[in-house]
Amino acid sequence: MRSLLLDRIEMLVTWDDGLPVRRDAALLVEDGVVAWSGPAAEAPAADDRLDVAGGCVVPGFVDSHTHLVFGGDRTAEYEARLAGKPYAAGGIRTTVAATRAASTNELRRRARRLAMEALRSGTTTLEIKSGYGLTVEDELRCLQVAAELTPHVTFLGAHVPPDVAVGYIELVTGPMLEAAVGVATGIDAFCEEGAFDVDECREVLGAGAARGLDVHVHANQLQPGGGVQLAAELGALSADHCTHLTDADVAALRESGVVAVLVPAAEFGAGSAYAPARRLLDAGVTVALATDCNPGTSFTTSMPFVIALACRQQELRPMEALRAATLGGAAALGIDAGHLRVGAPADLVVLDAPSPTWFAYRPGVDLVRAVLRGGQVVR
Ligand SMILES: [Zn+2]
Repeated sequence: MRSLLLDRIEMLVTWDDGLPVRRDAALLVEDGVVAWSGPAAEAPAADDRLDVAGGCVVPGFVDSHTHLVFGGDRTAEYEARLAGKPYAAGGIRTTVAATRAASTNELRRRARRLAMEALRSGTTTLEIKSGYGLTVEDELRCLQVAAELTPHVTFLGAHVPPDVAVGYIELVTGPMLEAAVGVATGIDAFCEEGAFDVDECREVLGAGAARGLDVHVHANQLQPGGGVQLAAELGALSADHCTHLTDADVAALRESGVVAVLVPAAEFGAGSAYAPARRLLDAGVTVALATDCNPGTSFTTSMPFVIALACRQQELRPMEALRAATLGGAAALGIDAGHLRVGAPADLVVLDAPSPTWFAYRPGVDLVRAVLRGGQVVR
């Protein structure tokens, strides 16, 4: 593979232990990985050159929480919310009906389009959940479509109880889990009033963990509850949403090392309070930012938008938000990604901006000039 030098970088973010951010830099990509980075004046020769022209280069985003595979949309529900109707977990059933009615090819075509949209906005690592099938066959279809798009696939059979919920936990922990194992890498459950209680989630997540799946929990989204404590108890990789937290919840996250995945675009879409990102960071909790891309509350694939919200609405400094959107996401998935240290895959974003502050400073503007994944220019 030809080598590529990214040159004239105003700000290079590698998250290197010694020097996480470098000014006036260059970066060499060889065989798909970062082969060198350093002062622009010391840049080695390369076959090809990409003139960053005073922009910045950051690691590709790691979006650790999406629901990309679904049928239909919920424009009408969103309109009602704009007119003052509050969000409730039950809206998910509208998407379940549309997903079951959609052909696998239709689900595939739509999910692929969203994954491409995410990639073009700089997301080079993506997690995708099931959760809109809720039958063995439909969950498996969604998981298989997700697995065509990413290696990070999460089984969310415990999303909402279906209309006939008798025996549903047995179905999720039995035949549905059986079908999911081998396709999914993780398991998740929606621990919430109107979804599943703590005991049900413990049963589902425990069954998944016993089959070797990574554990994630939709926790403390709409009100205080036991989701975060359950995540800590189970040694989950992440507790996601974390909007309504007690001091004991924050302490549990810190002590357990469970990553708090915050999804401010969902809070924007639901018109609800934002998760206490500042409080979590100050307490020493590892924080990730994700889109929660879904048709109900957060129909966006844009990590730049999420970063802008985190800066403006959740009191994160721009570099903290960028770290949460890269290294934080990787921690939530339990993978080594989200950085540009020498030897790492060249998954990166070239920005038409002198610093990541511009995500918040120029919201809604497409600042992404180029995206590389595994050293390949994909945009
Ligand atoms: Zn979610």
